[in-house]
Amino acid sequence: MTEERIAERTRRLLAEHGLHLKKSLGQNFLTDRQVLDRMIEAAGMGGDTGVLEIGPGIGALTERLAQEAKKVVAVELDQRLLPLLNQLFADRPHVGIHHGDAMEIDFHRLIREQLAGCSPIHVVANLPYYVTSPILMRLLEEQLPLDRIVIMIQKEVAERMMAEPGSKAYGALTVAVRYYTTTQWVTRVPAHVFVPRPRVDSAVVRLDVRPRPAVSVRNESLFFAVVRAAFGQRRKTLSNALSHGLFTGKQKGKIIGWLEEAGIDPQRRGETLSLEEFARLANRLDEVEG
Ligand code: SAM
Repeated sequence: MTEERIAERTRRLLAEHGLHLKKSLGQNFLTDRQVLDRMIEAAGMGGDTGVLEIGPGIGALTERLAQEAKKVVAVELDQRLLPLLNQLFADRPHVGIHHGDAMEIDFHRLIREQLAGCSPIHVVANLPYYVTSPILMRLLEEQLPLDRIVIMIQKEVAERMMAEPGSKAYGALTVAVRYYTTTQWVTRVPAHVFVPRPRVDSAVVRLDVRPRPAVSVRNESLFFAVVRAAFGQRRKTLSNALSHGLFTGKQKGKIIGWLEEAGIDPQRRGETLSLEEFARLANRLDEVEG
């Protein structure tokens, strides 16, 4: 399908089913064939690949995934889109459409039941932007059997994922994504290729899930609590950010001592710490606190 034809298809399907898109659900549908091609290419699917798609919308990406993957399971929150999706994929039993909320659905179970016999398993999705980070964090933290995640997200969020320590975009999301995955920029996507056109530009990124996290951390919840505290007050020195955000009531001298023992200057701002430094600090804190 050409770009024009995907846009036409989108408008026609919406009109035929009397659908008015909901901004609140991040419903901006992709109409660019080249971007779809880039996503498929980045996903690198073989004959046995199983794909989990979040937010199929009216199925433009789902159609392409169905051509390449062994099985596709797509989770859509908007009940109104279900009849259309079910109709579109009625003759393709390897495509399963599920009504559900990506923030709540049991992904372990869905993968186990719907993508049985598939390997590897990839997530490929044009994510709803209002919940990009929480959905991504669920996919990463729940230790799902995923090999790769290819997602279209708001361009600024993609930049945050790829940011270097000390830069404005570097944050808790960068650290978490790097902890669990290696990242690759795939392509920028201009706003005008969506119906309706969103206010922001987008980007596609590819995240390859590491077999084990990038750094060795003894206590993951403490590690992420330290990261959150450091970025929660990113303009403060690390010793101040930790004493306000994590160790309230503890003597500041103690916190400074722990930082020094971890080989980190307490005057530094948390936003300048690399993944390795966060891990070293959290491991030291685990020793003294644990
Ligand atoms: N995949 C389609 C495309 O590329 O054109 C649509 C992408 S659109 C950006 C996001 C889709 O996610 C919409 O269909 C929206 O209804 C759906 N959605 C929004 N919130 C969701 C949630 N919490 N769980 C599952 N789907 C959701």
